[in-house]
Amino acid sequence: DAKNNGRNCFRFFTQEIADRLSQRQLIEKCLRQALSEAHFSLVYMPIFDCKDNKIVAVEVLLRCQHPGLDGFGPDHFIPVAEATGLIKEIDLWVIDNALQALGILQKEHHFDGKVCINISGVELHNELFPVQVKNLLGYHKIKPESVELEVTETAFVANDVTCLKNLNALSQLGVSLALDDFGTGYTAFNQLIHYPADCLKIDRSFVNDLFSEREARHKMVTIIQNLAKLYDLRVIAEGVETEAQLTYLKELGCDWAQGYYLSRPLQWDDLLKLFKV
Ligand code: C2E
Ligand code: MG
Ligand code: MG
Ligand code: MG
Repeated sequence: DAKNNGRNCFRFFTQEIADRLSQRQLIEKCLRQALSEAHFSLVYMPIFDCKDNKIVAVEVLLRCQHPGLDGFGPDHFIPVAEATGLIKEIDLWVIDNALQALGILQKEHHFDGKVCINISGVELHNELFPVQVKNLLGYHKIKPESVELEVTETAFVANDVTCLKNLNALSQLGVSLALDDFGTGYTAFNQLIHYPADCLKIDRSFVNDLFSEREARHKMVTIIQNLAKLYDLRVIAEGVETEAQLTYLKELGCDWAQGYYLSRPLQWDDLLKLFKV
């Protein structure tokens, strides 16, 4: 009867929560081990200038080889890292290794582009973060202009004091700031003027649907492009998978592009091959 059903429902529900909690604890344990036992690595995704198809930047993406996280990408474990505070240590690990990689590209391969590093929105509320970035730049002797930090649009909170303070401190360091997954958040367009941002990264979902029937998404790419022009921001299109998409984005005036059509994320050795030709 209904009463029993209700009770079963409840039991099912709590079981599901318990499963999810233990799943989270499991991931957390793996992440701690990954940090202390060196199971993290980076892959490198080239970003191309739409005008001459040259590599102008390389985005680093985090991978975890811990056996317990086998097959899972950052979309799966970063949220757990954020919920447990481990993300701060992970972000510093990524920045440290990305700057070291950039140093090698500059010294041994004459690369004069940027390295693009994803950081968690958590860092916008972490008062230590700007100084930590400054110290790592100094340690690796990297000019701030060759570093772009990517934060998802949803992490930007215009009326949050620490958030704006951190963004301004980073901007004053000289690193550039990109709004990642742009178009998926709720940035009131007139707020853009308050952010010290340099770049908008058009979310992959909009690029993917460029030639679909969904007219609204098609228009979104045009809107973002126009918005960027208005606020003097660079535009990077993410998730370019076909030649037709790239041609369209070029005609629209998009500055830089990345995606499987241009290059998959690469292992270090494969990235180096691109600089040898
Ligand atoms: P993101 O920064 O927007 O990175 C783009 C994601 O889309 C990457 O997935 C990339 O492999 C994938 N991608 C790029 N081009 C294409 C394409 O043409 N087609 C398709 N289907 N996918 C494409 P990934 O590496 O799984 O990263 C997912 C997200 O996790 C990233 O989104 C970023 O928000 C976060 N993330 C990645 N690395 C780090 C990191 O080192 N630190 C932090 N805090 N977050 C990271
Ligand atoms: Mg990114
Ligand atoms: Mg993105
Ligand atoms: Mg993303």
